[in-house]
Amino acid sequence: MAEETIFSKIIRQEIPTELLFQDDLVTAFRDISPRAPSHILIVPNKLIPTVNDVTEDDELTLGRMITVAKKLAKEEGIDENGYRLIMNCNKHGGQEVYHIHMHLLGGQALGPMLA
Ligand code: IMP
Repeated sequence: MAEETIFSKIIRQEIPTELLFQDDLVTAFRDISPRAPSHILIVPNKLIPTVNDVTEDDELTLGRMITVAKKLAKEEGIDENGYRLIMNCNKHGGQEVYHIHMHLLGGQALGPMLA
C-alpha cells in the first residue's frame, strides 16, 4: 500500500487549498512554489506513486489530466502563447511528491527544456 502524500489531503480538502478543478478522476490546484506566472498541478484523485505505477486501467484518468490542463491553460489565458506540461518520475526525474502530478507551466517564455 503506497503511502499518502500531502496531495491526498488537498484532494480531500483536509487542507484549505483553492481548487481550480475537481471531478471524479482528477484535481487541480496552484503549485505552492510557482516556477512560472502560471504553475498549476493536475493530479489523479487516486494515489498512484510514480509514472512507473500507471496501468492500462488509468488511461482514462491520464487522458483527463491532459484535457483539464488544456481547459485550465485557456482559463489562465496562456493557451495562445503556449505552455509546458511536465511529469517527473523518481530521483533522476526530480520527483519530490510521490503521487503523480502534471505540472502546467506558462505565462512566460520558458526557454530550452533542460536549461
Ligand atoms: P515534483 O518535483 O514533480 O514532485 O513536484 C512537486 C511539486 O509539488 C513542487 O513543485 C512543489 O512546489 C509542489 N508542492 C509541494 N507541496 C505542495 C502543497 O502543499 N501545495 C501545492 N503544491 C505543493
